[in-house]
Amino acid sequence: MAEKKLPFEPYKIKTVEPLKITTREERDKIIRDAGLNVFSIPAEKVLIDLLTDSGTSAMSNRQWAGIMLGDESYAGAGSYFNFARSVKNIFGFRHVIPTHQGRAAERILFQVLLKTGDYVPSNVHFDTTRANIEVLDARAEDLIKAEAYDPEIVIPFKGDIDLEKLEKFIQGKGPEKIPLVMLTITNNSGGGQPVSMENIRETSRVCHKHELPFFIDACRFAENAFFIQKREKEYSSKSILEIAREIFSYADGATMSAKKDALVNIGGFICLNDDVLEEKLRNNLIVSEGFPTYGGLAGRDLEAIARGLEEVVGQDYLAHRIDQVGYLWDLLNEAGVPVYAPAGGHAVYILADKFLPHIPREQYPGWALTVALYREAGIRAVEIGGVMFSGKDEKTGKDKFPELELVRLAIPRRVYTASHLNFVAQALIDLYKEREKVKGLKITYQAPNLRHFTARFEQI
Ligand SMILES: *Cc1c(COP(=O)(O)O)cnc(C)c1O
Repeated sequence: MAEKKLPFEPYKIKTVEPLKITTREERDKIIRDAGLNVFSIPAEKVLIDLLTDSGTSAMSNRQWAGIMLGDESYAGAGSYFNFARSVKNIFGFRHVIPTHQGRAAERILFQVLLKTGDYVPSNVHFDTTRANIEVLDARAEDLIKAEAYDPEIVIPFKGDIDLEKLEKFIQGKGPEKIPLVMLTITNNSGGGQPVSMENIRETSRVCHKHELPFFIDACRFAENAFFIQKREKEYSSKSILEIAREIFSYADGATMSAKKDALVNIGGFICLNDDVLEEKLRNNLIVSEGFPTYGGLAGRDLEAIARGLEEVVGQDYLAHRIDQVGYLWDLLNEAGVPVYAPAGGHAVYILADKFLPHIPREQYPGWALTVALYREAGIRAVEIGGVMFSGKDEKTGKDKFPELELVRLAIPRRVYTASHLNFVAQALIDLYKEREKVKGLKITYQAPNLRHFTARFEQI
């Protein structure tokens, strides 16, 4: 492992948060008390927390300085104007509306635009996006290229929407049933894979031909822009800022969770050009989130977003970010640990059914892997498989499992060093060598919805 080039951290550490080291015996008790569910263990008992990259970023000294300068005026706060200037500099849209996080932006947009029986196509909708569409009795439609479901195919832009499917879908349902089309960049629910500029441009062309608004779910726009710079020839000498501006120039608006590529712990926004729609969104916002110059956030949060957006488009920052994920992916792949290929922008995904082939899908191999990883090494990962996403087959009444049984190792931004990643890789490699000792699970309690958060399990 030592001879691999380490991802060089382009920062030095000024504040530290000590990690608590536990013994295997302690962790065995903790995870059993938690009903074998990593969502139910206290975070302070986790050594390396790879549950999510959302809201877990480390802020810079400039952002913390901005926190102290936050203007907490109810209306017209200076921090709002700094926020709006920073968003417009990258996204370019005429209007920006702050919200408390990404799903609030989605809720407001969809409540205003959708009616019962409508359809919203995307490459792949993220779960909150899907949920906010489905609560309005509309349908969220995933139209990604088929390659995305094959964990072994390596293509540069595995997040691209299938343009032929999109065209057919619009003609089949009729444009009047489709209030907007979306693209998620990068594709969070599909391995964190990027979408090409060509695909964004062509999606825009198809939408505008049918006079449909085109919105981007922009949570990881900077990571996506970095992949475009590295993989699409004509962009190799463009800056991340130039690439990001071009991405958004093709869209009519965007929703954003600032908890990802704005490098903050809370926040979100909607931006768009349409004046009439903006007024409707603003009126909805006032009822639920707050006055339009703060939108459910404190002035200091807006100040931190303004500064985070300036930092996230930095070349050195992004090179390290993407390099970290690729580094962990390489270590695992070279040791023969089955991983979804290629490496994505924010996470490494383990193919849990291949990692634990002796555990059938009905005994939740992905979930069993998260439990074993915590017990053996204190690492917290998340299952994206049969527990999180199974449903009942409408015809047979039997459990229906999602295409892929994954365990996601999400890398928080600027939080962990190369030696932490080495530790994670080694723990997984050791576990892989002893994989036949890991046992399947059965569910002893589950809630009717979103069962993964509170379910309890027993080892079989
Ligand atoms: C996180 C996320 C959201 C929702 O944002 P929250 O801030 O968690 O509400 C929407 N879309 C994508 C792609 C995301 O990753």
